[in-house]
Amino acid sequence: MKYFIATKNQHKIVEFERILSQLGIELISEKDLDKPLPDVEENGLTFEENALTKAEFACKQTGLVSLADDSGLCVDALDGAPGVFSARYCGRHGDDAANNKKLLNELQNVPMEKRTARYVAAVACVFPDGRKIVVRGTCEGHIAFEESGNNGFGYDPLFISKLGRFGEVSAEEKDSISHRAEALIKLKAELEKIYKEG
Ligand code: IMP
Repeated sequence: MKYFIATKNQHKIVEFERILSQLGIELISEKDLDKPLPDVEENGLTFEENALTKAEFACKQTGLVSLADDSGLCVDALDGAPGVFSARYCGRHGDDAANNKKLLNELQNVPMEKRTARYVAAVACVFPDGRKIVVRGTCEGHIAFEESGNNGFGYDPLFISKLGRFGEVSAEEKDSISHRAEALIKLKAELEKIYKEG
């Protein structure tokens, strides 16, 4: 079975592949298509909405079962911000250093016990016949007072998980508790049900 994955992020493709290959699913992505897909506006109010919009669009364009995800960081002391705006918190898309700086500024006077946060990932899977699966994974932690570590990406140098700072733990450790891994394991369970039902 060939599924399309609507992301350019190679790290995500590998993570999806690792879990879904166990079901005999082979992933193809934009680089395998003759021409690139047009970009989709991510203007939903929830991670689920954005993931579904991307997967539905990809399914229409490719005719294949299509997967997409949307993720971000939700900080309790900031009423869930940056949330769906995580990638563009500082005003520009994908400037991790500026996003982290803004987050530290916003939390300047917040003590450690109130710096609780979670990573959230929604993964959507859309079938050409209209069936849809949307799942959510989370990973709880705290926001540190300063950055540390060169591993991971995005807010990882600030995110303290139960296994330690995501900027410092190994990729395997992060993958064992990450929001995306949890969502993918739930997706795998849903797909297994579909294949059992025939
Ligand atoms: P997207 O799901 O690729 O749109 O990513 C949204 C943004 O959320 C990223 O640019 C990061 O800022 C943040 N984010 C999502 N997952 C992670 C993670 O595992 N580590 C660090 N930052 C993340």
